[in-house]
Amino acid sequence: MSSRSFDLAVVGGGVIGLAHAYVAAKAGKRVAVIEKDPRANGASIRNFGFITVTGQERGDSWRLARRTRDVWAEVAAGAGLSIEQHGLYLTARSVEAVAVIEAFLKTEMGEGCRLLAPEEFRQLAHGLGGPDLQAVLHSPHELRVESRDAIPALAAWLEKIWSVTFYNETMVFEASPPRLRTSRGMIEADAVVVCPGDDFVTLYPDRIASYRLRRCRLSMLKLAEPGFRLPGALMSDLSLAR
Ligand SMILES: Cc1cc2nc3c(=O)[nH]c(=O)nc-3n(C[C@H](O)[C@H](O)[C@H](O)COP(=O)(O)OP(=O)(O)OC[C@H]3O[C@@H](n4cnc5c(N)ncnc54)[C@H](O)[C@@H]3O)c2cc1C
Repeated sequence: MSSRSFDLAVVGGGVIGLAHAYVAAKAGKRVAVIEKDPRANGASIRNFGFITVTGQERGDSWRLARRTRDVWAEVAAGAGLSIEQHGLYLTARSVEAVAVIEAFLKTEMGEGCRLLAPEEFRQLAHGLGGPDLQAVLHSPHELRVESRDAIPALAAWLEKIWSVTFYNETMVFEASPPRLRTSRGMIEADAVVVCPGDDFVTLYPDRIASYRLRRCRLSMLKLAEPGFRLPGALMSDLSLAR
């Protein structure tokens, strides 16, 4: 068997690709991750690193979000990733937002969550909140990682502990198992998982086009170091629209 022959090839070294590689390697598969850049450089490292539970759609999404959070906790312990923050504070600035939070707290998803009075929040948040703060939802379920550190650390852990082979700076032009045509020659794999992020054109463009996907923009704002650290992640009540 050639050293470039695997049970599973994963195209894309972002978080979705690494998740598939982890599960397959844990199941005893020989796995390769093929990434076109020197290291993953897409949405997976340019995000808030927020592992959200509260606010996910009731049912499967919420159940999967809890499972995902548990997997992150497991992986973080194994790979030595730092969990930067636990839990979420959602600030409500209108009576309508408070009403939504109160309704939410009555559902099964409100378990472990509670409503804080503005003063209680200000005390633990170094006086933040502003004059129009009505109430704050606290959820203990979330985690936050620093993605720029977490993704390379996960890749290194998968390589070292789970024997996943990484082909970086390798573009996949065609993925037709058992062969993948790449910029560095052929790689063989019985199965392929394609996790290309927002590259809709290189692999399976017709199939991706049939979903009529549209790119959207999500901007991040980096604040100057405030000199203190909040106990959990902070969200505004605009998030309630979701
Ligand atoms: C500003 C912002 C903030 C966000 N905040 C959060 C958050 O807090 N929590 C959360 O859960 N989600 C968040 N998201 C969403 C999350 O970041 C994405 O859903 C996730 O990173 C997608 O991961 P991915 O692996 O699919 O894609 P990517 O990270 O884009 O990875 C795809 C990889 O595939 C590689 N690739 C593509 N085509 C090929 C090819 N043909 N050959 C080889 N390699 C290829 C690319 O180089 C890339 O590295 C945020 C997104 C943005 C933009």
